[in-house]
Amino acid sequence: MSNLLEGKTALVLGVANKWSLAYSIADAFRREGARVLLTYQGERQQATVEALGAELGAARVLACDVTQDQELERLVETLRAEDDRLDAVVHSIAFANKEDLTRPFVETSRSGFLLAHEVSAYSLVSVARATAPLMAGGGSIITLTYLGATRVITNYNVMGVAKAALESAMRYLAGELGATGIRVNAISAGPIKTASARAIKEFSSVLDFVAQRAPLRRNTEPAEVADAAVFLASDLGRGVTGNILFVDAGFQIVGL
Ligand code: NAD
Repeated sequence: MSNLLEGKTALVLGVANKWSLAYSIADAFRREGARVLLTYQGERQQATVEALGAELGAARVLACDVTQDQELERLVETLRAEDDRLDAVVHSIAFANKEDLTRPFVETSRSGFLLAHEVSAYSLVSVARATAPLMAGGGSIITLTYLGATRVITNYNVMGVAKAALESAMRYLAGELGATGIRVNAISAGPIKTASARAIKEFSSVLDFVAQRAPLRRNTEPAEVADAAVFLASDLGRGVTGNILFVDAGFQIVGL
């Protein structure tokens, strides 16, 4: 293509398998000439993500469970020791207990609420804090969000509340890190069949509904989300920070 990310290094967190949005993003980054670094969550994922990293020509595949502060510290130490500078960081991470995505929201437990917020929202703050010093020349941090942050989407429940916190954290980080040339934005993707999405009860009926009602009369493709991430990571996005970019076939504008 046009090598929009030539000479840039991007750390992509959140590849679990080929269907992960982070995988499509890493693939598009590589297509545009970026040097890509991947992370995996725990030993269970290591072999799979290393194999996907080899496929993508990733320069490094490193451990990073965002609930383990020392893993994030070790990741940054490794990058610093190798003199790796970062230009982009993609945070494509979320988790909630399955029961909190199936039972009524009012029944969300304290521990389920805290876990969803720790993994899905606080981790953007800890990842930004850890990686900002590696973006000395400025950079782009991108997170993934969903319409359920501001609208009631049946069964999205605690994850919607966590996404609201994530979006607010994104704005506060953009406000602070802008002074050092670091931009922070979110992509609000339409529903896409991934492992995380499958945890949401009756997810396929969401896909059907969106395909009928969205202005483009179809669902969102992972490659469309990935190309938006390329824009935000590239110099084309240099004037954009604190923004939520909807890549959802237009569904967010629909009322009745
Ligand atoms: P996915 O299951 O492929 O990705 C979720 C990732 O989060 C996985 O790689 C998983 O390992 C990682 N993760 C969970 N807990 C973690 C932890 N403690 N430490 C490190 N990593 C951890 O699903 P996805 O749909 O690609 O999700 C990526 C992001 O996109 C999420 O933030 C999700 O909410 C968001 N999103 C997805 C959709 C959709 O419909 N698929 C729509 C909008 C936004």
